[in-house]
Amino acid sequence: MKPRPSFPAKLPPAGDRSAATLSPKPVQASPRPPAGQVAHNAQPSAVPGPGRLAAVSAMPMSSGLGLDSSAVRARMVAKLAEQGVQDPWVLQAMGQVERHRFVESALVGQAYEDTSLPIGLGQTISKPNVVARMIELLRQDAPGKLGRVLEIGTGCGYQAAVLSCVASEVYSIERLRGLHEKAKKNLLPFRLPNVHLMLGDGMLGFPKGAPYAGIISAAGGEDVPSVWLEQLAEGARLVAPTVTSSGQQALVVIRKTASGFDRQVLEAVHFVPLKSGIA
Ligand code: SAH
Repeated sequence: MKPRPSFPAKLPPAGDRSAATLSPKPVQASPRPPAGQVAHNAQPSAVPGPGRLAAVSAMPMSSGLGLDSSAVRARMVAKLAEQGVQDPWVLQAMGQVERHRFVESALVGQAYEDTSLPIGLGQTISKPNVVARMIELLRQDAPGKLGRVLEIGTGCGYQAAVLSCVASEVYSIERLRGLHEKAKKNLLPFRLPNVHLMLGDGMLGFPKGAPYAGIISAAGGEDVPSVWLEQLAEGARLVAPTVTSSGQQALVVIRKTASGFDRQVLEAVHFVPLKSGIA
């Protein structure tokens, strides 16, 4: 067993290190490209922005959390490390992304608690521990940044923002138009050029971006759709809440190998259901 690193954990190589906070960028005088959007035909649309993540700098906030939320986020990250999250990329990303930007103003005070929160239309943003755990499982054995990843269930866009720190490209698909629009709005000020939001049925995956270095689902189905497995690159992992033989939902990790698939069933979880079609 690997010893648990003391906190703060070792950071990724300096060249890959991003600014301390992933916060909205200042509005610039120069015109921005229009928000690309693809809805019905499930084409990717980039959240527009010229800058790389590394150029993101902290901005003053008017969130009710005071001028700087980085201390409260650092406490959350310390707790994640205590709970066993070890991947320095994941810890850094969780410390960077301002979770309070993704929740309703009435819930801002709870944004850094280890709790899931409602995001509208009966859906929830997963608790930080679950987001970190799933991304750590997705990244297992990855020496550096992951390549292109697919997220099923954009929701409010929070997990897509975290993924954008640990993967080169993030394709995220959402079936509910209202949440797809909300995520676009939430992510726009961050200007993450490597995040692509699609409105579509994630049960079909997104073949145009395949093969993926990882697939992560934020909604749980009766089984893992076989197209997801087809769209995985060899050696890549899929992490998804799935109903197991016991009838309970559990985290399932499937790794594609040269000869087939390795499947692991992990802890019980409670995710919103994976549904088909667009609404
Ligand atoms: N990662 C999200 C969590 C959203 S909750 C976040 O950070 O906020 C899960 C989401 O999965 C919900 O928004 C739900 O509408 C969506 N979902 C369920 N079935 C889906 C499907 N077949 N395709 C795309 N999205 C789906």
